[in-house]
Amino acid sequence: MGVRRDRPSGRSPPGRPDRPARRRRALDRAARLRQLSEVDQDVIRLAQDPLFPRFLEQITATGGCAHPVHLSGSTATRDVATGEVLHHYDTRTEPGERLSVRCRNRRASVCAPCSRLHAGDTFHLVRAGLVGGKNIPAQVREHPRLFVTLTAPSFGPVHRATTDGERCRPHRNAGTCEHERPANCGATHDPAEAVVGQPLCPGCYDYPAHALWHAHAGQLWDRFTRATRRTLASAVGLTQTRFADHARLSFAKVAEYQKRAAVHVHSVIRLDGPDGLHAPPPAWATPELLTRAVRTAARSVLVRSPYSPAVGELLFRWGTQLDARPLHAFGDTDGLADDAVAAYVAKYVTKDASDTAAGTDYPLLTWDDIDAAPVSPHVRALIRTCWHLGSLPEYEPLRLRPWAHTLGYRGHILTKSRLYSTPYFALRAHRAQYQQRTATGAPDDPEVVTDSRWRYVGSGHSSGAALIAVGIAEDLATNRQVAREEQARPDA
Ligand SMILES: [Zn+2]
Ligand SMILES: [Zn+2]
Ligand SMILES: [Zn+2]
Repeated sequence: MGVRRDRPSGRSPPGRPDRPARRRRALDRAARLRQLSEVDQDVIRLAQDPLFPRFLEQITATGGCAHPVHLSGSTATRDVATGEVLHHYDTRTEPGERLSVRCRNRRASVCAPCSRLHAGDTFHLVRAGLVGGKNIPAQVREHPRLFVTLTAPSFGPVHRATTDGERCRPHRNAGTCEHERPANCGATHDPAEAVVGQPLCPGCYDYPAHALWHAHAGQLWDRFTRATRRTLASAVGLTQTRFADHARLSFAKVAEYQKRAAVHVHSVIRLDGPDGLHAPPPAWATPELLTRAVRTAARSVLVRSPYSPAVGELLFRWGTQLDARPLHAFGDTDGLADDAVAAYVAKYVTKDASDTAAGTDYPLLTWDDIDAAPVSPHVRALIRTCWHLGSLPEYEPLRLRPWAHTLGYRGHILTKSRLYSTPYFALRAHRAQYQQRTATGAPDDPEVVTDSRWRYVGSGHSSGAALIAVGIAEDLATNRQVAREEQARPDA
């Protein structure tokens, strides 16, 4: 049974008028307690609980999750043959009569420990699609695999960070624009400077095109993958419908916001045999052919925005900057190492619009929300544009207002085709099973059945628990880092 103690209150114990010194000491102690911050008082309250060690165990089991979900309930494990109860667990004996589980949020800005876990899952998922493992055969390493980066086109010149002291926009005699702003910039900018990514002239910058491009980026990607298949098919003399009998194209992609708040797409594209992962690709399927097809497809695809009396009809393409590089197994001398790519992709799924200072990690519901959002003037202008355009009936299907906080981009941060690799849920289910077994002490045995009854009772930490969780999360991160360094030691 959880023992709940009252918060140390400022009240002094009943004093005795004949013992003024004692009374004064008690008052001093109460005053000192009052001076402690609310967080410190809460930590003291928690630490005084006889179940404090178990409370620490629970926080450790969630990896120091910042917003754990609390459950109440019980689980009973029975022998299949005899019906005998082998193990019983009930939250009634836990601190606060509850069991805490992870929030599993992907975003580092919401929960750093869970986002690290998610990044780990993404790494394994992307890596498995590249090198095998997690039920993926190791032969995928022999399949043609590319790392492709597709960019947004330009919507107007922005200040850029350069290396080697190069100037930002060094056009001499560029004059001024119609808003009387110089059309060049002779400064050199450090990447950390706030001006980097901001337009030279906000008046000239094409905000509607930028927001609408984001709103069509998903469609542009779909057309790109179809065009890649089509290009491959025609290169080897197949009809599009017969292509699937010979080869399959699979991918995983992540979206990343650049400094100018435009989405970039990083993707891993793989060419498999007709049965996907398990079949070798046909002899014609080479990284060179795949690279050519990707380049041709990226240049050719086009999406039209719905016609709008206010904006007209816009044509959307990918930007001219395109990077498509073959991946090589780790240890090869040239090309990108597949492990490095998996790590790179994993890094991006824990970020979102708010982490790269583009947009916010919560939806904006009113015009006042937009004014209050902690974003740069450029990003605010983009959010406002989404808000304005979102009121036009012709753009209704683009849902620009509900997606104003991501600057009109509606895609997931990570998407992958069905055949690419192990699904997240397989990784999660495996871990959840393990975690629940360790948390509740249930045995792992195929000869037994487990009945569980769980009820949601709340989420989040008190102020003191939050502080303790941060400490535990940091310790766990340090331990992992030390373990990795030990492993990486050449003599280990
Ligand atoms: Zn969490
Ligand atoms: Zn500049
Ligand atoms: Zn201008």
